[in-house]
Amino acid sequence: MVNMTSMIDLHTHSTVSDGSYTPTELVVHSSINGIRHLALTDHDTVDGLDEANIASKEHGISLIPGIELSAQWQNRTLHIVGLSIDPTDPSFQTTISEAKRTRADRARLIGARLEKAGVKYAYRLTRELAGTDLLGRLHFAKMLVEQGYAKDFKQVFKRYMVRGKPGYASAEWIDTEAAIKVIHQAGGVAVMAHPARYSLSMGQLRKALRDFKYFGGDAMEVVSGNSHPQEIASMSRLADDYSLSASVGSDFHGPEKPWVKLGRLQTLPINISTVWTVHDLW
Ligand code: AMP
Ligand code: MN
Ligand code: MN
Ligand code: MN
Repeated sequence: MVNMTSMIDLHTHSTVSDGSYTPTELVVHSSINGIRHLALTDHDTVDGLDEANIASKEHGISLIPGIELSAQWQNRTLHIVGLSIDPTDPSFQTTISEAKRTRADRARLIGARLEKAGVKYAYRLTRELAGTDLLGRLHFAKMLVEQGYAKDFKQVFKRYMVRGKPGYASAEWIDTEAAIKVIHQAGGVAVMAHPARYSLSMGQLRKALRDFKYFGGDAMEVVSGNSHPQEIASMSRLADDYSLSASVGSDFHGPEKPWVKLGRLQTLPINISTVWTVHDLW
């Protein structure tokens, strides 16, 4: 039996944010893995889209231009994926410039905090490793593991990179309603990324999805990189309850997170409305 959703991956990262494949390498690996429809959704940037677009033409992939925006909801950070966006839209570009500044400023703060906690040259080493100043927590986590401060990602996030720990700094991301608006302004579809990964209680998650829908949100990821069947069942129910169409995305970052594979995704329930049919994504 053909696993249809393995041909579709609508949430991936490249070296332009915190992924470890260049946009071209990502496209090549997608093609090898049998993906036909790929969205590149780097954190708060669209800088990889031109390269991915060129590579996708060479490798027979249909590329959906995307982004993963960091957004504020009730003092928490949510990730909103924008699919099929026009990256040249002026108000969208303004939003991204602000988001990039917020991310770069937060990175300086994270660096300073880590240095204060005894991690020497934290900012400089991370900046070198990342090759961009658009640093995310995963870049700092990589540096800390490389420097021997922790043994793996799990440990490094727990000890350093979460709220209350030295490698965490809050940031004033755009609010969720504005994030959805600007994605729409750029002609895109707004998708709640990995709803099961926010450490929200079911009650809080329902509130977040209710607000997301109320603000104009279109879809939610029902299948994510590491989803197990029970989670998919519960996310499908939520998609139905809040009239959000279903998206699938691995949230692939690279081979160093072996539990997430590019395009290797569980299937969606048969009768669910998918984001690509409802919004005519291809
Ligand atoms: P940021 O957007 O910079 O705050 O960082 C969020 C990113 O950190 C996610 O996209 C993942 O790449 C990474 N991340 C968050 N939590 C974990 C974790 N427990 N293990 C590995 N990576 C994580
Ligand atoms: Mn990431
Ligand atoms: Mn995310
Ligand atoms: Mn992501």
